[in-house]
Amino acid sequence: MSKQQFGVIGLAVMGENLALNIERHGFSVAVYNRTAQKTDAFMAERAKGKNIKATYTLSEFVASLEQPRKILLMIQAGKPVDIVISELKPLLEPGDIIIDGGNSHFKDTARREKELAAISLRFIGLGVSGGEYGALMGPSLMPGGHPSAYQEVEPIVTKIAAQVEDGPCVTYLGPDGSGHYVKMVHNGIEYGNMQLIAEAYDLLKNGLELHPEHLHQIFSEWNATDELNSYLMEITAEILERVDTESGSFLIDVIQDDAEQKGTGRWTVMEALELGVPIPTIAAAVTARVLSSFKEERQIAAETLNGSGPRRYEGDSQALINKLRDALYCAQICSYAEGMELLDGGSKAYNFGLNLSEVARIWKGGCIIRAKCLNDIQAAFRQNPGLMNLLLAPQFKQKLLDRLSAWREVVAVMMELDIPAPAFAASLTYFNSYRRARLPQNLTQAQRDYFGAHTYHRIDKSGVFHTEWAALTEETSLQTGTTD
Ligand code: NAP
Repeated sequence: MSKQQFGVIGLAVMGENLALNIERHGFSVAVYNRTAQKTDAFMAERAKGKNIKATYTLSEFVASLEQPRKILLMIQAGKPVDIVISELKPLLEPGDIIIDGGNSHFKDTARREKELAAISLRFIGLGVSGGEYGALMGPSLMPGGHPSAYQEVEPIVTKIAAQVEDGPCVTYLGPDGSGHYVKMVHNGIEYGNMQLIAEAYDLLKNGLELHPEHLHQIFSEWNATDELNSYLMEITAEILERVDTESGSFLIDVIQDDAEQKGTGRWTVMEALELGVPIPTIAAAVTARVLSSFKEERQIAAETLNGSGPRRYEGDSQALINKLRDALYCAQICSYAEGMELLDGGSKAYNFGLNLSEVARIWKGGCIIRAKCLNDIQAAFRQNPGLMNLLLAPQFKQKLLDRLSAWREVVAVMMELDIPAPAFAASLTYFNSYRRARLPQNLTQAQRDYFGAHTYHRIDKSGVFHTEWAALTEETSLQTGTTD
């Protein structure tokens, strides 16, 4: 009996849709899900009449696959991945390939790759972006692992990925955890861009008191520009015009305002702190979601602290809308710039050898942060692979400087109106800090040296210096303390 060419474990939204996508491109598929009812439901409906074989035990699943076996895990990240791998191990043979398509932490992926390589099994950590629809119609795929394993799956992943004018949105990224690293940072940028759009919406809705239909029109117009065209802009415009069938109100107005922040956003910020890479826009976005989830406390504080809501903007509305469009472009470029900096930092720290131009290319289709500006990001890193920061690239430098006064004014107006602007303010501060040759951390260094003898460098001579700032009496040491 002929065997299936590809196996998928996990039939939740992502697994089902990827299995259908793979089958649609001419590959026979075997599927397995821990809960058999889900397999039955899938086979009876969406997989009916397709070249998809249901299996009900892992041994049946493994036996149904041609060698070397190619097995995609599309299951909950974390412990379940280790559990399923340990169940698969005794059933597999040298050279077989396990692909983890979930949102696993890149360090777990590196560990799993090593453990499996020790028993001659190959492992690919595959970042998948595009949600349910992308998984079915063409996601952006971010694979990392052994190059020989990638070669085996390349004919399949290049077909199922989203296609853009310069190829499929997939490429071999690098060893062990590199694919999941790129996916983690992709999600960090996603957090940044989503928060910036939310803040723009806040200013339009509450500062200018615009009706949802007008908001829909503005986001649609912005989406039609080269600067702001993106998937997130497109869905925002669509969301804003949706009417709730139950209440008759615009759906956006009845949705609770507390957002979740799951693993990848938090991991991005933790990783950036670990490597010492500044990503303030992305960090502000993660923090904004955390604060939003303090719903009850915010309701109490709104009364106690007279947070009756933002004030209305009294100036020229249309002029402010135009400035907001420019500010949103600048701030989103910061979100991408921070993400690319972190990719560069991670690539150096873990020897991933990432090609940042290629990363930008595979994000141009299928994924949540796909946007026209990725063409410029791709070109910037292609022309100068050693580019220090995207903000310095000729594709962006002048555009940012031309829009700086609008960006500055938008942040100032939001502060004036009591509209929180965590990501807008963080992005402008990032830009202004990055382009300052001298920052006030000379004072920070002096303070550290004062209370902790941490020493400092001087601008006029080399070496390490310490100043006796105060006479070390019992009285002064008690007042200042001595710890960092
Ligand atoms: P999910 O809700 O994250 O996971 C559910 C699946 O995991 C089910 O098939 C479940 O099997 C299986 N599972 C959980 N624990 C298991 C265990 N101990 N042993 C065996 N199977 C186990 O599914 P998802 O939303 O489709 O996402 C799959 C992965 O892709 C996740 O890592 C997710 O973070 C990532 N991802 C999701 C999206 C998205 O838009 N949803 C986008 C990109 C990446 P049972 O049916 O038996 O419970």
